Amino acid sequence: MSAASPPPSPRPSGASTGERTATLGSLPFTLTAESLAREGARLLAEARTEVAARVAAPGPWTVENFLAPLDALLVRARDLSNHAGLLFQVHPDGAVRDAARATSEAADRFFNELRVDDRLYRILTALEVPSDDPETRYAVDKMLREMRRAGAEQPPDQRARLIELTNRIDRISNDFTGNIAKGERAVAVPRDRLTGLPPDYLAAHVPGADGAVRITTKYPDAHPVMAYCDDPEVRRELLFEMLNVAHPENLPVLEQLLVERRALARLLRYRDYAEFATEDKMMETPEAVAAFLDRIADLLTPAARQDLARFLARKRRDDPTAERLDPWDAAFWSDGYFDTKIRQEEYGVDLRALRSYLPYPAVRDGLFRLCEELFGLAFRRRTDEPLWHPTVEAYDVARHGRPVGRCFFDLVPRAGKYTHAAQFDLRTGTARGDLPQAVLVCNFLDPGTPPETARMEYRDVVTFFHEFGHLLHNLLSGDGPWLYTTMPFVEWDFVEAPSQLFEEWARDPTTLARFARDPTTGAPIPPDLLARLAAAEAMGRALRQLRQVALATISLDLYRRDPTGLDTTAAFREGWDRRCPSSLDRAYHPQTAWGHLTGYSACYYTYVWSNVIARDLLTPFRQSGSLTDRATAERYAAEILAPGSRRPAAELVRRFLGREFDYAAYERWALEGAEPTRRPDRPAPLAR
Ligand SMILES: [Zn+2]
Repeated sequence: MSAASPPPSPRPSGASTGERTATLGSLPFTLTAESLAREGARLLAEARTEVAARVAAPGPWTVENFLAPLDALLVRARDLSNHAGLLFQVHPDGAVRDAARATSEAADRFFNELRVDDRLYRILTALEVPSDDPETRYAVDKMLREMRRAGAEQPPDQRARLIELTNRIDRISNDFTGNIAKGERAVAVPRDRLTGLPPDYLAAHVPGADGAVRITTKYPDAHPVMAYCDDPEVRRELLFEMLNVAHPENLPVLEQLLVERRALARLLRYRDYAEFATEDKMMETPEAVAAFLDRIADLLTPAARQDLARFLARKRRDDPTAERLDPWDAAFWSDGYFDTKIRQEEYGVDLRALRSYLPYPAVRDGLFRLCEELFGLAFRRRTDEPLWHPTVEAYDVARHGRPVGRCFFDLVPRAGKYTHAAQFDLRTGTARGDLPQAVLVCNFLDPGTPPETARMEYRDVVTFFHEFGHLLHNLLSGDGPWLYTTMPFVEWDFVEAPSQLFEEWARDPTTLARFARDPTTGAPIPPDLLARLAAAEAMGRALRQLRQVALATISLDLYRRDPTGLDTTAAFREGWDRRCPSSLDRAYHPQTAWGHLTGYSACYYTYVWSNVIARDLLTPFRQSGSLTDRATAERYAAEILAPGSRRPAAELVRRFLGREFDYAAYERWALEGAEPTRRPDRPAPLAR
């Protein structure tokens, strides 16, 4: 759209007649740093002019004369923000990343000003919404709440301070994530110390002129070493680097982030930022979160202690003098060395051998076929449009023959790229606008191997399904009426439920068997290996879940405490020690590399809470007798995914289950790997 043209006329709600498209508009991936900056500035100037004109127009203000054009302009500004935010995290050219960051912050400033625009707030308050349109009423109420929470009702001088503060917080937040992406570290290891690693890994990691293999903190480099390398010194050295990414540079950045967010919360008359951050979630208060985490910790701790005792007993077979498990023995965040050993020795599951059944193309195509079977989706590879990197894949997605959106996979690590795994929104899908587009930014595939022959770790297959669960949620909800009814505006402590639910299809032996096969021999994964894998996967689960509780406790506490002069290293360790019966050294600074501390702030508990919901969402699938029961899958898509955030999440869950969700399924699942003596006789009573 050019600067002179009028805003697109809105299309009537629900008119998905197939004319909607997935387009990059004036923001293709090929823009140079200069052209991106220019185009971003132009789009934002245009949006500002249009907002000024719209709020100056006299009432009465209706859905069609005010909300529809406002929504269209918000979608355009948000898409610019998404586009720039993505390129800041993934573009291979540092100059484009810098320009993208500047554009993303300019878009943030636009939204920060808009949220406290009192004229807009008054119009939205007075907006005439027909009484028979509850979805629009819900969307407008969410907009008003967001504006109230941003300070739209405050006096002008206060609003100016709030804008300044939120702009500063956005910049600090970008400093934090930018430092993590830039903060790659590495160890040099003589080849003969890498015993235990799988052959395809060793083949892709060639020693340099000095005879040493360089192992970076990138996931495909580091995770296999932590899981398989027999030399504890190598694991110790590498874990030190992994848990010190972005240290020390992010220590002052994190402190500043905590200080400014607390100042923002206080200015808005909240006790602390945790109170602010939880208010618009399902959980509503920090006290409710803390009680929930206590409850889950009580459930998990006895079984988690026995998991640790089991790992220590295994370690003592190698080293009879061992008195404790070290952090590099049973991993901090990933699969650890002794849990991997136990899986191999006691369950007969060699995760290294499993890699040979998990070549990336087979996993990806298997995932596509599964989505076809469950939801009637078809994926068609696109190769006509230049992307930001040659390893990125693009697919058009159709459902029952009708286009629903586009997705991109960026799965190979490279310098300066986002280091974790996430789904990024790229374009907003609404019935009045275009189709949704989203990107999976992950780091599964070894850069030393072409993607078409790369093997995946089993845990990465599970993560792939997880991120794909977010993508499905995004694509299938892309024809709602308004921006504020799309998936990104769902309660943020529900957002991990569809993703954690979809992990189950990667864990289920029947579905895994469909695509896990050796590409050279064509041999399918042996059924008995699948059965053993399922049992091995449950082993240590209580401990892994307790770690999530520990991280959730830390994220909540960091945003409840007074951050002035707070030693975040000590605070992290305190929270960890309180929940997790294993010790962390002061030499580690995991908080500096933990991107969730900006994006999820106090709400890392989302993963545990959403998981409780996700486990119960599986109940109808279990009752149908199959995870691939088409009728249940279609009902799940219709009741949970497609509505996006058109109704409160609790209501969607109630409709799908036909009752309130409860903890029983989570409790059974979390303790599945525990021995019978560790299981409670019956589920604990429900608190919430
Ligand atoms: Zn997720």
